[in-house]
Amino acid sequence: MRIVLLGGPGSGKGTQAKKLTETYSVPQISTGDIFRAALKEGTPMGLKAKTYMDKGELVPDDVVIGVVEERLSKPDLGKGYMLDGFPRTLPQAQALDGMLQRLGQNLDHAVLVDVPDEELVARLAGRRTCRNSDCGAMFHVMFNAPKKEGICDKCGSELYQRDDDSEATIRERLKVYNKQTAPLIDFYDKKTLLRRVAGVGPIDEIFNQIKKVLG
Ligand code: AMP
Repeated sequence: MRIVLLGGPGSGKGTQAKKLTETYSVPQISTGDIFRAALKEGTPMGLKAKTYMDKGELVPDDVVIGVVEERLSKPDLGKGYMLDGFPRTLPQAQALDGMLQRLGQNLDHAVLVDVPDEELVARLAGRRTCRNSDCGAMFHVMFNAPKKEGICDKCGSELYQRDDDSEATIRERLKVYNKQTAPLIDFYDKKTLLRRVAGVGPIDEIFNQIKKVLG
């Protein structure tokens, strides 16, 4: 199963991707996670990506496309994969089409986790992420609080607020999403791949809706 997950920053698509990975045993490919890991390692690509991420801007298409091309060439994707946070622009979506064509593959679904803008701002400002990159669990101070404040339920590591989850950066990321990424909804709709799921409500209910559309 090959899936693209679409949705604004804070729509919960990352959380849903992690759950889907467990259920369907296909890897989650998150370009945001790849950039954060590269930054932690201090690679030139990671440092370059940081200059854009900190401002809430998109990393240039050529960099992102190169990263995904490399990832899709790895041997662990026999059962499929879930793209989380890619594509984010029309050129990226077209590049993905080209990669799939070369690999002789098709996409099965483009799932849109649909959440209104005002809700996205409230959610992102309260988001907390596990510092342990092998875990990467996500919590929310109001909607999905950890049992112990500031500590990951899953692995006991410290939780932190991502640099790009400050209010000003959130507003910029939303602007960028509406301008550059929202056109992909139409792009995948025209290909009859779009599956729209309301992304408001309990995490498990949204997850059930997604499972339903995946059939
Ligand atoms: P995310 O974890 O998906 O919210 O991504 C965090 C940040 O990484 C974004 O705000 C962008 O700066 C950058 N990024 C992640 N994926 C992409 C992409 N497909 N295209 C451009 N920039 C990206």
